Amino acid sequence: MRKSGLNLSEAEIERRQALQPEGKTPFILIPAVCPICKNGSVQKFFKSGVYQEGKKDLSLHPESYTFEDPDFKQYHPPLYFIWQCPHCFFSADQSTFEDPVADVVCSTNNFQKRILSQYQDDESFRETVPLLEPVEQREELTFHDSIKQYLMAIHFFQSISSIKDRDALNLARYYIRLAWLYEDLEKSDQRISVKILLDQLKYSIIEYWDEIPLTSKAAMEKALFYYEVAYYNSNILAQKHIEHQVMQVIGRLKLILGNIEEARNEFFKGITTANKYKTELDASFRAAENPDLAREEFLPKISRLEGFIRESQDLMQESKQMLNELK
Ligand SMILES: [Zn+2]
Repeated sequence: MRKSGLNLSEAEIERRQALQPEGKTPFILIPAVCPICKNGSVQKFFKSGVYQEGKKDLSLHPESYTFEDPDFKQYHPPLYFIWQCPHCFFSADQSTFEDPVADVVCSTNNFQKRILSQYQDDESFRETVPLLEPVEQREELTFHDSIKQYLMAIHFFQSISSIKDRDALNLARYYIRLAWLYEDLEKSDQRISVKILLDQLKYSIIEYWDEIPLTSKAAMEKALFYYEVAYYNSNILAQKHIEHQVMQVIGRLKLILGNIEEARNEFFKGITTANKYKTELDASFRAAENPDLAREEFLPKISRLEGFIRESQDLMQESKQMLNELK
């Protein structure tokens, strides 16, 4: 959670405690203010440590979720990833809802203005929103509810050109998680009923959104597209020193989508960039005046980069084997 260092006033702590539901629940409720319409709402997220993620596959998709308390095993955590304003339907993951421009070069005011002008001037934007609105507010979300929330988040972020064409990291993240959600749906008993609803959605929305991704593969291709937009066009990656991570994700997606040669190239670029960061950190570590402080500051970062490099080398090896098998 990005705002864990938040200093809450006593009144605010009391207000939050009063919100907590009675009875047994895996959720914490949080008052939130919509960054677009400025209305308040109550949003929820899982209490920390209430579930564990299982092993991750090649696209980093957790294959399972285990709740310590068996009473909660009906919950599927990714269904609750997106927060949605019940007034204007702006949707985003929790940290982006609380700070919508964390990964965009744009002021919060400007972000708000651009969304409001979409509502005003863009008919197709306006017409799409009600098609993705929830049918009812429910305590427990279905796959259908949640998929529409992800699509709503994508609809909002895709409507801003500086995000769609440049700072596309959030879009890429929403698309990859949507791809995972479609994969999880295949394993769920809601599979057949939700597919019927999604077919209906496609029929009603296609006039406004012809490339709406309604399968895992379609969403994954969009994720790859927007990771590459962010990689080539956004300064945020360099600012946050996450270029190597994004290159590895691009490589993973290319591998899944069958472009093995290019995937190897991405892993290689990721390793080169991580090595460059590591050399810089090694030098700062050696030059530091206080060795104890420096150890605390630099060693964990250096060790994370070393772990990343080993992992990328394994991925290169794996893709080499895949290429050999194809020959
Ligand atoms: Zn709102």
